[in-house]
Amino acid sequence: MSADANCIFCKIVAGTIPCFKLYEDADTIAFMDINPGNDGHALAIPKAHHADFFAMPPALLGAVSRTAQRVAVAVQKALNPDGINLVQANGKGAEQSVFHFHLHVLPRRIGDELKMNWGHKPGDMARVKANFEKIKAAI
Ligand code: AMP
Ligand code: ZN
Repeated sequence: MSADANCIFCKIVAGTIPCFKLYEDADTIAFMDINPGNDGHALAIPKAHHADFFAMPPALLGAVSRTAQRVAVAVQKALNPDGINLVQANGKGAEQSVFHFHLHVLPRRIGDELKMNWGHKPGDMARVKANFEKIKAAI
């Protein structure tokens, strides 16, 4: 499987840096975003390193989509947001900051006024962990 020694998500896949892991299968993992745009913000990624949407093998896109759906269903059950955006960035102009393909599962609340570039504010880890535990229990 392709990996990049300098990629933070490859390190998460390898287990050399920690994450709040929600789900794992042969080809994908899902975990909490540590700079959440909203409560329950999670990421679904392929285990193999592919920089972006253009580079993704189509079958792997299907696998990551299935994982994102599984997570989104659990987020909906656990946190009951008013909506969920699936967001995916390609390239610096699209504010992609990690060049390992990922789908954001981003819960929304009516009136939150979240913008496309919501910024990366470090999350309150106790709160991220509490949301993780609720979502994990619903998967
Ligand atoms: P993007 O800016 O669309 O490439 O998204 C990258 C996302 O990865 C951002 O939302 C970051 O908050 C998130 N992120 C970066 N490092 C980590 C990490 N170690 N654990 C969890 N999420 C991370
Ligand atoms: Zn990677």
